[in-house]
Amino acid sequence: MPTTLKPSEPVQDALNRMRRQVVALASALGLASLVVSLVVGALGLRLHMAEIDRNGQVQLSLQLEAFKRVFDRYRPLPALFSEHPTMIAFLRDPDQPGNRAELERRLERLTGLTAALDVVLVDQKQRLFSSRDVLTPKELSHPDLQNAPRQGRLGRAYLAKPSRLEALAQEPVYLFSHGIRDHGSYLGALVVALGLSQLEQIWALAPYPVRTVDLGGERTLGNSLSLSLEPSLASMRSYASELPQFDWQLQLFLSPTPAHWTGLTSGLLALAVCVLLSGAILWIFSRSQRATIQSLRARDLAQRLDRLVRQRTKELSQSNSQLEREVEERKQTEEELRTAQAGLVQTSKLAALGQMSAVLSHEFNQPLAAISSYVDNAIVLLERDDLDAGLDNLERMRDMVQRLAAISKHLRNFARKPRESLSTVPVAAVLGDALEIMSGRLKAEGVRLDFRPPDQVLWVQAGQIRLQQVIVNLVSNAIQATRAAKPEPLIRLSVAYDDSHVDIYVADNGTGLDPNVITKIFDPFFTTKGVGEGLGLGLSISYGIIDEFGGKLSAGNGAPDSSLPGALFRVQLVRIIDGAKSENPRSESTTATNQLNESDP
Ligand code: ADP
Repeated sequence: MPTTLKPSEPVQDALNRMRRQVVALASALGLASLVVSLVVGALGLRLHMAEIDRNGQVQLSLQLEAFKRVFDRYRPLPALFSEHPTMIAFLRDPDQPGNRAELERRLERLTGLTAALDVVLVDQKQRLFSSRDVLTPKELSHPDLQNAPRQGRLGRAYLAKPSRLEALAQEPVYLFSHGIRDHGSYLGALVVALGLSQLEQIWALAPYPVRTVDLGGERTLGNSLSLSLEPSLASMRSYASELPQFDWQLQLFLSPTPAHWTGLTSGLLALAVCVLLSGAILWIFSRSQRATIQSLRARDLAQRLDRLVRQRTKELSQSNSQLEREVEERKQTEEELRTAQAGLVQTSKLAALGQMSAVLSHEFNQPLAAISSYVDNAIVLLERDDLDAGLDNLERMRDMVQRLAAISKHLRNFARKPRESLSTVPVAAVLGDALEIMSGRLKAEGVRLDFRPPDQVLWVQAGQIRLQQVIVNLVSNAIQATRAAKPEPLIRLSVAYDDSHVDIYVADNGTGLDPNVITKIFDPFFTTKGVGEGLGLGLSISYGIIDEFGGKLSAGNGAPDSSLPGALFRVQLVRIIDGAKSENPRSESTTATNQLNESDP
């Protein structure tokens, strides 16, 4: 697993410094971006507002011009008409029918020519002579209309809603009046009514509110926008021009919203540009810083790796020399072990030899002592001519000699090499033969035999007679071990197998094997039996025989089904699957006496 090295202190410091610098730079750039975008936004707003103002002034002068054009056309009319001889002639003699007819015709004609709403003559008695009769006497009684002509001024009056006019048109009216004089004497006044719808029609084309207000600030004229947007006019840019001859003010309003939008969008645009620029600057800065940190880190890593390698090398060379020391020590220990082993082998050889000498001297001394005493007895008896008794002693001596011969033969068996080659042997037949040999002894000792032959014909690699000898030996030992068994001595002979092996079990309910004894029972001359009862060679020879067969002889306590508490011996042999084909005729002598335990009673 790769180890992640923590950055060293200088690298960590540089990293922290870089982080602080990046944060400071980012804050400064952010602040600068904000300021720049605010300034640009304000500038945009101001420039656009100036543009709007310029436009407002231009529009105002245009609308003023339109206003003046309309009024200037009508203002001189009363003065012009009042000098007409028809007017003077009529006022001088109003009752003359010709004058009246001429006046009506003239008024009609003037109205038609000027496109005025009405032209009205007012005499000194306040009688009205109108071309169209759209104005009421009350409306014409405006003080300025009456007084100004007397004083030689132009009279003016504004009518927002002429009462009779509804029938003709819904339009406000402006009235001009001028005095009619004859050689300086005042005869009456001529009033021209000007319909203002034409002015409002001109203003209706304007895309912004335009209106006129009187001295009290009341709206007098205006386009429809000036009416519909009246509540929000205060928040709009206003441009005004005084109309002194009318005591009015012409007002024009433009929306500042486009300027606000310009301010906002230019501010946002500036902010976006600043953010992009800041990002680029930050990126370049952190990239250069990162490169520096990277090189710092690489240098630091190289130094630490170098240190680490040096330390590891030192540790390795230390452990290497430690290892060399240990190898040396191990060699020495092995040498000592070998010496000790050799000593042990020597000791165990000596021990076996000692044991063997003890057993043999015991086995040989007893019959020899007996023979010696029988010889002494025989000499004495023969000297007394007691031939029968002497003969009896000689027969006993022969028995002793035979016993010595048997022991000697047994020893020869132990030492001899196998004479026969291995063959394929039927297990059930070998067991049957062995049990036949032992049947007499089993009966004599009162031992019950539980024989469980295999459920099929099994073949093993063995020598038939020697295998018999082993089984006979194991059964013979079991008989001896079960002598004191309660309620009755029992030996079980059973067989188990698999594809490669056949196991023969000899179990009993006897004394069992002491744990201290188990490790030694296969040693030659090891016996727990008394003098004359055993040589301690049976299991040792059996072990050698089974080993020669390529099998294994092992000992333990308790049968596999735990029903027998005594010793359990297992003879494991190599199984020959199709043994019938290769079965050899019996090459060994067909009867196996208990050659392994020759000294058994
Ligand atoms: P021997 O029978 O002459 O003593 P063996 O080699 O046949 O020699 O047996 C060695 C020892 O193993 C015996 O002395 C006995 O203590 C022990 N032994 C063998 N078979 C049994 C058995 N079935 N039950 C208890 N002990 C046994």
